[in-house]
Amino acid sequence: MNVVSLASGSKGNAYIVEQDADALLVDCGLGPRIFKARMSEFFSADIRFHGVLLTHNHSDHISGLKAFLKSNPDVPVYANEMTADAVVYETGVSPDVFVRFENGQDFDVGPFYVEPFSVPHDASDPVGYLIKGKKTYFHATDIGTPIESAGKKFASASLATIEFNHDSQMLHTSGRLPSLIRRIVGPRGHLSNDEAAEFITKWASPSIEKVALAHLSQDCNVAHLALEAASSALTSKGLNGVAVEVFCQDKVVAL
Ligand SMILES: [Zn+2]
Ligand SMILES: [Zn+2]
Repeated sequence: MNVVSLASGSKGNAYIVEQDADALLVDCGLGPRIFKARMSEFFSADIRFHGVLLTHNHSDHISGLKAFLKSNPDVPVYANEMTADAVVYETGVSPDVFVRFENGQDFDVGPFYVEPFSVPHDASDPVGYLIKGKKTYFHATDIGTPIESAGKKFASASLATIEFNHDSQMLHTSGRLPSLIRRIVGPRGHLSNDEAAEFITKWASPSIEKVALAHLSQDCNVAHLALEAASSALTSKGLNGVAVEVFCQDKVVAL
């Protein structure tokens, strides 16, 4: 089971979960040209998309959806009711493309079993996903508070993508508007390196094999700070053998 980030961050997000050429796209915040170019770096043309899973309606997660559906008209889009309605309004995609789910209600997509769970973030009704194929994959990229219900999902995963959005000190000295800083650090904003590391420390279990650090702020974080925070959290749990990758805005990274 492969997890590949085509892009990760506030300028666009798109993640592929694939096994044996069966694939899910998690979010579609990349334009068609870059999407195709980055896909071809890692995948052959015979990949089959069984669905798009949307986490929430922020533009960095949905801006490329309409173009993706133009090239892939038969691929259904999975979202909860409020996210689907917001995405129809914001992108102009047809409401008919959606398979609407309720948070906490699991469903099958192709060979994958998908468990959507609520996360705190300032969007319509944001979710993270636990995706079960040959491995169990945890995905949460925009999560303002490291809540217990997400932690329990993470504890069952062997692969995981977790937001490491910002370094607190870099954010507070960034010169950004105080209102924006308040939004980012707020309970429905984004996780700092320290908060994400605490989440790992609290919930990581021996089942975990690989962790990707995602949605890093380009102005208020650097990869080595996120990596240090994640590595020391894993070490504190005796999980030194876990592979850690940093997902990037501008290039393909495989977990
Ligand atoms: Zn985002
Ligand atoms: Zn967001």
